[in-house]
Amino acid sequence: MSVKTVINEMSKEQQKEKESLNLYYSTQTVIQEALNKLGYNNEMYELLKEPIRLLTVRIPVRMDDGTVKVFTGYRSQHNDAVGPTKGGVRFHPDVDEAEVKALSIWMSLKCGITNLPYGGGKGGIICDPRNMSFRELERLSRGYVRAISQIVGPTKDIPAPDVYTNSQIMAWMMDEYSRLREFDSPGFITGKPLVLGGSHGRETATARGVTICINEAVKKIGKELHGARVVIQGFGNAGSYLAKFMHDAGAKVVAVSDVYGGIYDPNGLDINYLLDRRDSFGTFSKLFNNTISNKELLELDCDILVPAAISNQITEENAANIKASIVVEAANGPTTLEATKILTERGILLVPDILASAGGVTVSYFEWVQNNQGYYWTEEEVMEKLEKVMVSSFDNIYQLAETHQVDMRLAAYMVGIKKVAEASRFRGWV
Ligand code: GLU
Repeated sequence: MSVKTVINEMSKEQQKEKESLNLYYSTQTVIQEALNKLGYNNEMYELLKEPIRLLTVRIPVRMDDGTVKVFTGYRSQHNDAVGPTKGGVRFHPDVDEAEVKALSIWMSLKCGITNLPYGGGKGGIICDPRNMSFRELERLSRGYVRAISQIVGPTKDIPAPDVYTNSQIMAWMMDEYSRLREFDSPGFITGKPLVLGGSHGRETATARGVTICINEAVKKIGKELHGARVVIQGFGNAGSYLAKFMHDAGAKVVAVSDVYGGIYDPNGLDINYLLDRRDSFGTFSKLFNNTISNKELLELDCDILVPAAISNQITEENAANIKASIVVEAANGPTTLEATKILTERGILLVPDILASAGGVTVSYFEWVQNNQGYYWTEEEVMEKLEKVMVSSFDNIYQLAETHQVDMRLAAYMVGIKKVAEASRFRGWV
């Protein structure tokens, strides 16, 4: 590798670290604002501004070629006053400490908003699963569980899928934990395959939750979903199912993208074709010649824009060019605080990530309840319960935003953090 390449590599990494820190500091800023509005003092902010626990682990993995590679992983637990902590594990080359910490705080907020009996947690491993074999991924998943086993468990901290992790990885992790404890522990992790105690509707839950939020948002601004033009950035678990649900609801999905780029057709895309042809990482754009960049996609003419990929996509630089009248954040942290301000000033209704993407953890909670009672529900029961939670969470936050004349992000933080603050106060921590 040339010196120039090394410098470029470093600056890319440093750039990402800076972005994660920005995300983390922005989260703290909104938490402080929310606590101030709710009348809490600085002691509460001191408690809630950082996770109570962060474990960093090094995981040695025997690779298929016989060499050993050592991976770095994290598990962050924001606050467990409400109950055990809960949140996904992501496998991604860009994972870093600040990002995992911020994501664990957002999980506390999501659980607060949806009134689940959990605090927030999050985990991550710095790795690129796109370049790892099935067996290497299994060894990494099992190694991670052994490394964090002291601080997790069905009544302590319950992991789940996140970016680039899936039900197979949850199955290996559940098996490893059960072997360590020497009893079957389905409630240790959610997002499992159905045969291992997974829940109906978990796989599509995030997209279902986003769909419910889109329906509510459309109603609020007096429009209709049928015929609305929808642009979706990202075609992973959330983005791909969402495209299908939008298509099925009669909306016109005019553009979607993967990590390499997107495709656009003002007359609407053939979503079923894309679903058939994408790979397990949601990649499809290589099948097409006429692609657009992810940057161009965000600025397309449309009614509803859904960033469903990664963080920091709508920023000060492009917020003025967004044409949608509704932005619903299916990804975690796709819009910066500065951009949130610009969109709000422009009268665009922004449904924040901690509300819009809360469907996943809500059905994870249902899965955990089913595991604990050993009694399993039908898909209809799950969907009905999810709908109730999402609609009432949306309404609650929308009302609060109106009453306090604040944007929905701050209102969502107020609802989410209040529950954690109250639980901490009753326990006598502050
Ligand atoms: N990783 C998902 C999220 O960010 C789901 C977490 C869970 O199901 O516990 O909300």
